[in-house]
Amino acid sequence: MVAVLMERGVELVVSLLAVLKAGGAYLPVDPEYPAGRIEAVLADAAPVCVLSTTALEASVPDDVARVLVDHPLVVSELAGLSVQAPVVEVLPAHPAYVIFTSGSTGRPKGVAVPHAGIVNRLAWMQEEYGLSVADRVLQKTPFGFDVSVWEFFWPLVQGAALVVARPGGHRDTSYLAELIQRQNITVTHFVPSMLEAFLSEPAAADCTGLRAVFCSGEALAAPLRDRFLELLDGVPLFNLYGPTEASVDVTAARCTAGDGAVVPIGGPVANTRVYVLDGSLSPVPVGVEGELYLAGVQLARGYVGRAGLTAERFVASPFEADGGRMYRTGDRVRWNADGQLVYLGRADDQVKIRGFRIEPGEVQSVVAGHAQVAQAAVVVREGAPGDKRLVAYVVADGDTAELASSVREFVAGWLPAYMVPSAVVVLDALPVTVNGKLDRKALPAPEYAAGAGAGRAPATVQEEVLCQAFAQVLGLESVGVEDDFFALGGHSLLAVSLVEYLRVRGVSVAVRALFETPTPAGLAEGPGKPRWWYPRTSSPRAPSRSRPRCCRWWN
Ligand code: AMP
Repeated sequence: MVAVLMERGVELVVSLLAVLKAGGAYLPVDPEYPAGRIEAVLADAAPVCVLSTTALEASVPDDVARVLVDHPLVVSELAGLSVQAPVVEVLPAHPAYVIFTSGSTGRPKGVAVPHAGIVNRLAWMQEEYGLSVADRVLQKTPFGFDVSVWEFFWPLVQGAALVVARPGGHRDTSYLAELIQRQNITVTHFVPSMLEAFLSEPAAADCTGLRAVFCSGEALAAPLRDRFLELLDGVPLFNLYGPTEASVDVTAARCTAGDGAVVPIGGPVANTRVYVLDGSLSPVPVGVEGELYLAGVQLARGYVGRAGLTAERFVASPFEADGGRMYRTGDRVRWNADGQLVYLGRADDQVKIRGFRIEPGEVQSVVAGHAQVAQAAVVVREGAPGDKRLVAYVVADGDTAELASSVREFVAGWLPAYMVPSAVVVLDALPVTVNGKLDRKALPAPEYAAGAGAGRAPATVQEEVLCQAFAQVLGLESVGVEDDFFALGGHSLLAVSLVEYLRVRGVSVAVRALFETPTPAGLAEGPGKPRWWYPRTSSPRAPSRSRPRCCRWWN
């Protein structure tokens, strides 16, 4: 196993391919992850080395061997090597990649996927959707998520063009719409939440060169399906389903406009069996809810170094010959009358927030690790429909002053940004039911507004405009110049809304800049500071597809 810690770019693609060609399995390590997470994943997986770049060397833990692919010594050594591909013997069961995903017991778990699984998945995709050398596939999914595997390797295997989005570009809908048009992209993927944000982008309607858009990762709502098919009339949309534990996707369906109030996830891909079973592992009739079990060539080998957990989820199958295994997904589904599967929800606490798979139990155990936290509970709340957020409730062990912000900071040092609770609520005691269990209904809704607008007032027109925009997008009365967008409940999709809100008011700012400097003051003066222009009229412009002709740069 070889870890790869790199930004998205050509070196990344070459490194992943090189690991596979050398017979190894690659372990993606996102450089955006905090140091604590990077260390934990590398310690757990124990790769032989990390491939990285000189710019990111500081992110590689000291005790891990590294090869910096752009280091002059490495570059000159590579230049002296023969160009022949190494001859290695890889068996179908050898792992091709290991992807870490959230673990309910408080530790992330590494899923080892064999060549047989991912090759089958790619071969099925080619048979089903037939990529040609004229196609251009967009690679924008962060490589720590398995959708990226087909984005990288489907075009490479078929000789189509692979177009790599810039680092951070996957969050920026206006960049994506522009890139899809400029690069004549024909195939791309969106998790449904991001598709929703993308369709709100005025330039999305011009992405008519697409010939296939794949959705997966979370439930695709029927209104979103219809909106897509109306806006991009004639562009096929597909709903794919699958867990990391089964080589990306195991079912697929083409979407049809107006076809029912739920979007089915379809039937199994090649060499895959799907079973809808009750609690005693008997198949349930059509229309009856059951748990989805998967079998076939795409099943992962299991969780790296976690035999117990592997045995718990990859169970002996009464339906497979020769002691075959089934993967217990934890997803509740039913068969519809057309022989397609319909997704109904989860049988456990696992959640998807904006397409990210999260075990609240893992976040809870990190929160509970804070020195001033005596007790902790982490739940998902949906304040507005579709706006799911993680909220942590803590009981202090001692002083409560500044505890909420200190907990957020602590968690951000260990977990990826999408797993950091939007709010931390300090309570005297966790509410319990008569049975002594956590009384989830009695947990108070967090007040995102508390503390907002305090601190220094805006000192410049730029700060004033940014504070107003923050407040508007976050639904708050006022926001101070030092207030952190994410601490006030902001998240990646609201960041897209903020950028769009500012754009139609003549302020151009990149989503990435907001992640780097998430306060109005920081944004106004940080490295990614906005570019301002005065519109000809004083009222906000309607969204426009073209850049303003007459603009005066302020900064
Ligand atoms: P991941 O391992 O991150 O790919 O997450 C897998 C989980 O995401 C599944 O077990 C489902 O709960 C959910 N999921 C993936 N695709 C879909 C889909 N098309 N519709 C509904 N849920 C989905």
